[in-house]
Amino acid sequence: MSYVGPDFEPPQPRRPRRGPLTVALAALVPGALLGWLVYEAVGGPGGSGGGSDTAGGRASAASSSPSTAKPGSAGAGDDAKQASPTPTPSASASSPVSGSGSGSLKGKVVVIDPGHNPGNYKHTTEINRQVDVGNGHKECDTTGTSTNDGYTEASFTLDVAHRLRTLLEQQGATVKLTHDGDSPPWGPCVDERARIGNTARADAAISIHADGVAEGERGFHVILPGSVNAGAADTRPILDSSRDLGERVAGNFLRVTDEPPSNYVGEGTGLVTRTDLGGLNLSTVPKVFIECGNMRDSKDSARLTSGTWRQKAAQGISEGIVSFLRES
Ligand code: ZN
Repeated sequence: MSYVGPDFEPPQPRRPRRGPLTVALAALVPGALLGWLVYEAVGGPGGSGGGSDTAGGRASAASSSPSTAKPGSAGAGDDAKQASPTPTPSASASSPVSGSGSGSLKGKVVVIDPGHNPGNYKHTTEINRQVDVGNGHKECDTTGTSTNDGYTEASFTLDVAHRLRTLLEQQGATVKLTHDGDSPPWGPCVDERARIGNTARADAAISIHADGVAEGERGFHVILPGSVNAGAADTRPILDSSRDLGERVAGNFLRVTDEPPSNYVGEGTGLVTRTDLGGLNLSTVPKVFIECGNMRDSKDSARLTSGTWRQKAAQGISEGIVSFLRES
C-alpha cells in the first residue's frame, strides 16, 4: 500500500531539541515570549509543517527540494484531505499553468473510463455483440448494475468520473473520458475503451465501476491486469506499473473514503487480479479498474448514493493517481 497517514501531520521540528526545549521553556518564560515560541514552533507564516499533502507521494517526489514548498501548499493539502466537495485552495492555486511548479501534472494524460453507459439499455443488440479481448470474446458492454432503489451503476460511474476529472484537471493533468453519458449514445465497447487510453498515450487509465453482488458482501476492490499474451492482448509490459497504480489507488481510496476492502474477493487486500477483462487485456498503458462498493448492499448503497461520499471516492482515486504520476 502507498502512504496511509494521519489527516493532520504535526509540525516538523526544524531543529533538534525543539520539542523538549519548548516544553521546558514553557515553565520559565513569561507569556509573550511563550506565545512567540509556540508561534515559531508551529511553523509561523509559510512554515513547512504538515508537509504531507494531497499525497504522501508528493512529499517523497518533491524531497529533492523540500525548502521550496510554496506558501499555502501545506494548508492546501490539509484541506484536500478533508475531501470537501468544494474546490480546495490548492486546486485553484494550481490551476494557472505557469504557477504550478513541481506540483503540476502538466503534460500528464489520464483517461477515465466511466463503466457502462446510461444509454446501453436502449441498445441491447449493439452492446451484446461479441468483441475480441485477446484471450477470448466478451460482450461489447453491459448495462451495469443498480441499487435496489434503481440508482444505476452507469449514473454512479459518470458522476464519480466527472468529479475525478475536475480534481485531476485542477492538478494540471489532461483528462479524457471514454464516453460522457450520451456521447456516444451507447458503449463504447470494452476493446474500444482500452484503445482510447492507448491512443491517448495515457500515463494512467482507470475504469470506474460499482459491483452488484449479494447483501452483506461489501467493500471496494481494485482490479489489476493479470498476465495475458494472446491475440491482440499483451499485458506484460504494463503489469508492474498497473500494480503500482492500483496499490496507490486502493490505499488512498481506503484512507479517504473509509470504505473497507472487499469482504468477498481479494482476501482483505482490496486488490484482485483478472485476465478476463477486455478493458485491461487490451491496454498498453498502466490501467486498473475500481469497484467502489456493492450497490446491492444496504450499507454500501447508502454511501454510493451520497454525493458527499462520491466526492470522497473521487478524491481518494485522484490522490492515488496523482501519487502514481508524480513518482513515475
Ligand atoms: Zn461495472
